Order: sequence, then structure tokens, then C-alpha cells
Amino acid sequence: MQIEFPDNKLYLNDDDNLSDLPKKAERLFEHQLNNWKLASDGYRSLTAVQIKKFEFDNFTIEAHFNPGRIISSSAKVDAKSIEARPCFLCINNLPNEQKAVKVINDYILLVNPFPIFDKHFTIPSVNHVPQSIKSEIEDLLTISSMLGKNYSVFYNGPGCGASAPDHMHFQSGNFEFMKIDTEYKEMINTYGEVIFENDELATTVVTGCLRNFISLESNNISKLIDEFESIYNLLNKEQSEEEPMMNIICSYHNYWRLLIFPRNKHRPSYFFEEGENKLLISPAAVDLGGVFIFPREEDFNKITKELIIDIFKQVTFSDDEFKYLSDKLKNR
Ligand SMILES: [Zn+2]
Repeated sequence: MQIEFPDNKLYLNDDDNLSDLPKKAERLFEHQLNNWKLASDGYRSLTAVQIKKFEFDNFTIEAHFNPGRIISSSAKVDAKSIEARPCFLCINNLPNEQKAVKVINDYILLVNPFPIFDKHFTIPSVNHVPQSIKSEIEDLLTISSMLGKNYSVFYNGPGCGASAPDHMHFQSGNFEFMKIDTEYKEMINTYGEVIFENDELATTVVTGCLRNFISLESNNISKLIDEFESIYNLLNKEQSEEEPMMNIICSYHNYWRLLIFPRNKHRPSYFFEEGENKLLISPAAVDLGGVFIFPREEDFNKITKELIIDIFKQVTFSDDEFKYLSDKLKNR
């Protein structure tokens, strides 16, 4: 069912004659910080985030202790729990103070009151439809180009860190916050293998930097959509109704850079441990982008290089699985 977005929830409407989405987002951000305590508290708490850096060969992984993220990292996302809670992305359930700006089609942009980034937006559909990328990839790319070079836009698959798998949404945050944004070129030069390249599209498989991924770069949206679909179909070997597990990070620099991280597990074994061995971490796009988010200090204190390596190993494609996929891509 198509839902009409009520005008009283809009901070800026189309009459405001501001077509520039980053500016609209900026103005919404300021408005929400001045008028919504939950949001202003959330962004103020970011100043207390503690950071550790772990250097690997030609890339870095950071660990952030960010207590504000406890709700998201520990969210129960099984069908029963999802059904039992009011959906926090549905318009009727948004707090009174929370306002939106329209983006494109069914998408609106909201300030995320539990931030990881200095500016952190949630970009939900106005419709309560399940998280699913295949039909929405064009909107993801368009939103990324609308937000421009200062933001990354990302997608967490339903079993890959999305805390609202029942409600279609993207997220966006400052470009260069994720280590992969700034270290991308070095990573590609060291670990990447270009498997397809012409004037309009380059497809690179990236192996050996703890999480295997595919990078697509293109200035042609339809070529990019075709290539994404072809990868999606290869990942969906069984031709299942269910989406193949993945996280996606997109950015736009007069061309798109689309990073696809195939997944094989939702959460690492440490998440389910009790006591000493427990680590409350639920990896999603930001973690794969090189910033591990820990809402509990005890986990942040425990994290080591070895644990980082093992967490990636548990939740992303093994070298063998990834090689199988890369070979299929090469031999198309
Ligand atoms: Zn919803």
C-alpha cells in the first residue's frame, strides 16, 4: 500500500525551492539538533567516543567505543521480536520532534539520533516493505549521487546488520569516516585484481585484506545496475527468494564507487558467548568499511588484531568461496 507522507512531518517541503540535497540535509540536521533532545544528546555523546587503531599492510581498522549504539548492536532481529515491536522507521511511529526531507521516489531522509558519524542519516522508504536491494539499487545510486562526494551511502542486508530488516532503508554518513573511503586506492593497488574494464565500467575483486569484496566503478548508472544484477545473480546460486547476504557501501565522485561485501554469517560466535568471551559486535557496512563499533567498553578493551581477523573471517566470504565467485565473474 502506498503511504502519503504527511506534511507536518516534513521539515522542508518542495516549496522551499532548495533542490540541493546536501544543503537540505544540513539544514534538517541543524534543526533537529536544536529541537530534539534525543538527537542533540546523541551527537554530543560522540565527543566521548574512544578510538583504537590497528595497522595492517596498507590498510587500517579502527575500533570505536560508542555506548550510544547499544540498541542497534544488540537489536533482536528474529521474526518474532520484529513483529512484537513498533517499527521505528514507520512514519506513524516517528517521535513528534523527528522531521524529514524528501529525497526521491518513496525515500525520505531522517537524522539518526544514535549516531556513528558526525552527521548520520537514515534514508527509509515511506512504505513498510522488507529490506531488499535488488529493485532498489538504482535508488541507492541516485541517492548517492544526489548526496555527493561528502557522504557515503550504505546498505545492510536483512541478515547483515540491519536493525530494521522489515523496513527498507539506507544510511548515510560523512565520507572519509570509514577507513576504506580514504584507503581505497592503496587497498585496490595492493589487493585488487581488475577483472573487467572498459570506458564505462571497472570491476575489481579484492582479496587478502581480511574481508573479500568486489568494487565497481562507473559513470554510467545503467551499466552499473547491470553489473550489480549479474553479481547478485551469481551470489544467489540457489535462485532463492531470499536475498544473498551482503553489505554495500556507495560513494560518488562524478562517478560511482560501489563496494559489495558478500557475507555468510550475521554475527560472529563471540556475540553468542556468555561472560568473559562475549563480544557484543554485530558487523555491518561500517565495520566492513574499517570501523568496528563497540557499544560496551569491556569489548572495546578486549579487542585485538587477532580478534579482528577472526571476526571478519567468520562473517565474510572465505578465500575459497570468493575465488569461486571471482572465477565465475571472470568467465562470464
Ligand atoms: Zn516500518
